Amino acid sequence: MSLAFIPIMSDLHTSSPPEAEDQLRQQFSQIISGVQQYLMQERDLFGNIIYPAAEQGTVHNGQEKKTVSDYPAEPWAGVSSLTELNSMICGCQKCSLGATRTKFVFGVGNPKAEIVLIGEAPGADEDAKGEPFVGRAGQLLNKILEAIHFKREEVYICNILKCRPPGNRDPLPEEVQQCEPYLWKQLEIIKPKIILCLGRISAQVLLKTADSLTKLRENVHDYRGIPLLVTYHPAALLRNPNWKRPTWEDVQKLRKMYDEMKNN
Ligand code: URA
Repeated sequence: MSLAFIPIMSDLHTSSPPEAEDQLRQQFSQIISGVQQYLMQERDLFGNIIYPAAEQGTVHNGQEKKTVSDYPAEPWAGVSSLTELNSMICGCQKCSLGATRTKFVFGVGNPKAEIVLIGEAPGADEDAKGEPFVGRAGQLLNKILEAIHFKREEVYICNILKCRPPGNRDPLPEEVQQCEPYLWKQLEIIKPKIILCLGRISAQVLLKTADSLTKLRENVHDYRGIPLLVTYHPAALLRNPNWKRPTWEDVQKLRKMYDEMKNN
């Protein structure tokens, strides 16, 4: 954040009162937007909640690592295709987002994809269209995929939540708890070889950790036997283009892992 306002504050002594007031207003709004940008960046990396140090790296939300087999009574538990699963869950009203959504955003792409990309939750564009990552962040995601020679149709793209949280707020623990089993079932059907988490929330939810994005990006994780990588959320890249380079490095790592798997 810039502290460039300091010399300008001293300039105020030499300006006429209306000019000084204008300068002050301008400087004040620059400071506010600098602070806003800084806080957004902190949120992308670390979240809204400041976790006590002792909790870093431990399971949070009190959720155990459940699987589809913990939901034997669900009508969708035994289905074997994504189409069938979607048709069974698309009317979901298990949390309050069912009442506010326009469209249920199940997921899109190759049902036999070897790579699954998982974001956080639909935004306004996705809610209107019923497809994940179709807004500005989605366009950037398509470019990221192209850069590592994958087409959007080749991979599978979905989110932790299938419905849009109002105002694009972070998913609530109870929403995640209700929705995550659908994602487990999707992954059980698709059987990807690699998972790429887009952003902190997706990774924290899947790995049941409170670690920061910075820390999560450092390793290849094991998600139920599937290698899982973590990178920045495309929406965060739109806010902070400095993160494009590390994202490029993350997706190069993904491409390399994928190529090595194919060659073995
Ligand atoms: N952000 C997400 O996390 N998912 C989408 O589908 C769109 C934006």
